[in-house]
Amino acid sequence: MNGSRRTFLSTVGSVSVGGTVLLSGCAGSDSDGDANGRTTDVSSGAESADSTATTETTTATGKQTVSTATIRDGTEQETTIYEIRSGSPGPTAFVGGGMHGNEESGYWAADAIRKWDIDAGTLVVLPKANVRGVRHERREWPPGMDLNRKFPIGEPPTNALAKAVWRAIEEYDPDLFIDLHSSKGILRREGDEGVGQNVFRSKHDEIVTSVDAAVERLNDEYVTGYEPVYDFVHTPVSETKYDTTPMLVNKMRADRDVPSCLFEVTQDDVKPEKRARWTRTFVDSVLDSWGIRSSRLNG
Ligand SMILES: [Zn+2]
Repeated sequence: MNGSRRTFLSTVGSVSVGGTVLLSGCAGSDSDGDANGRTTDVSSGAESADSTATTETTTATGKQTVSTATIRDGTEQETTIYEIRSGSPGPTAFVGGGMHGNEESGYWAADAIRKWDIDAGTLVVLPKANVRGVRHERREWPPGMDLNRKFPIGEPPTNALAKAVWRAIEEYDPDLFIDLHSSKGILRREGDEGVGQNVFRSKHDEIVTSVDAAVERLNDEYVTGYEPVYDFVHTPVSETKYDTTPMLVNKMRADRDVPSCLFEVTQDDVKPEKRARWTRTFVDSVLDSWGIRSSRLNG
């Protein structure tokens, strides 16, 4: 599907803001040279008010453009956001992973998703929201800092990283938000504190329909050989005990009125690779429903 793809560098339009000195070099460069043979270089990026730098590559297949930006630039929390623009009109989806550093399936999946080709609209991916948590494989890092409890509804985010994530979301202005997580247990199992195999979602019609289709596909084609309690379900987050929890999914649905969901695959008896595959399939299916990318995954 990736074929041999010739790529060329496209320079980001650099606008100096308030006489800020433009820097070029490897600041914020991921420089991991991905498997597509894509060449990446760092071009001069305007130092914007929130200290992000941008790089951009353009693929020769169609007009698809991939841009990267960093948030928390120059700090230990520095992390990259990927923006894939199809060149065709359509909605913008924002997919996040790595909010919790011990939930590897989410950021593994997100790291694959950020390399996807799309058909319409825009796909924005933040694979590792809390990159230090990911590095330490901890839900909270620094200790006691749960990033997904820093987004109170109706109030500004409560630390610098959460503020930077929120500011980026405001800039990309997505029509759809998906946050990728995993849980130790299963929501519907008696005496189980876990929330796995559930998609917490907003009540927007578009998200209900698309999540329902994704869940059905997962249950039919992927969650096979498990007890029925393993079947994915979806739940309006506003009707759960997490109604007002300062999670990003709540802030997105309540403050921005954006169709939003938080995906929870279980860690119980499902190996990380399988979790990541189910996670990718979920996103593949939702993006298909939204017309951003026709489904490319199977099995
Ligand atoms: Zn989580």
